[in-house]
Amino acid sequence: MIKENLEEVERNICAACARSGRKREEVRLISVSKTKPVSMLEEAYAAGSRDFGENKPQELKEKYGQLPDDIRWHMIGHLQRNKIKYIIDKACMIHSVDSERLAEAISQEAGKIGIVMPVLVEVNIAREESKFGVYAEDTAKFIEKIARLPHIHVEGLMTIAPFVEVAEENRVFFQKLRKLYVDIKRKNIDNVSMCSLSMGMTGDYQVAIEEGATMVRVGTGIFGARNYNLT
Ligand SMILES: *Cc1c(COP(=O)(O)O)cnc(C)c1O
Repeated sequence: MIKENLEEVERNICAACARSGRKREEVRLISVSKTKPVSMLEEAYAAGSRDFGENKPQELKEKYGQLPDDIRWHMIGHLQRNKIKYIIDKACMIHSVDSERLAEAISQEAGKIGIVMPVLVEVNIAREESKFGVYAEDTAKFIEKIARLPHIHVEGLMTIAPFVEVAEENRVFFQKLRKLYVDIKRKNIDNVSMCSLSMGMTGDYQVAIEEGATMVRVGTGIFGARNYNLT
């Protein structure tokens, strides 16, 4: 089933790229495997997935140890400072930087092992009370501040759009995030590259691609619904 799901997602990505005059290689599919057992990740791996997204540091760490080492692990969930240590040597990117204190702590942990961690800044583009992330109007200043940290490299923006029944409703938010991304890119801030735009989930990744996403994070569409009661 996972193989068929991946094929369908792949077809949808190709169609969205075609509609918007983009190349398939411009968009990376991240298979969001949170709460799912290792056996299912192995199935996705066998079908070609090499980018996996997890939102809990300990879970990422455990799965990392059980799966092939050519997988790129993306930390996509809200991160507490005391848990950075679990993933600092395992994640290829942290998508959810939303405070100076967190950015400082990531830089410090990365420094300890002599690496520079690629990060995205999470933007609460729809200003939802329930969501993490910096507001759009604060994002450029925030990036200017954290860009000075020696062991992180800001590579772009991430957002979790509102939960909607109709994906079209989120188009305006994807457009807003894209505009913010372009505006910040134009500032040419030192140590900031603005090359990744992580937006779009199962319900709306096709719209996100049409509006410029370079990474889409798809969970349910690949692995099926999550049952939180079992975890
Ligand atoms: C769970 C999650 C996803 C995937 O959500 P689906 O709707 O299942 O595709 C994407 N991004 C983040 C940050 C998540 O926590």
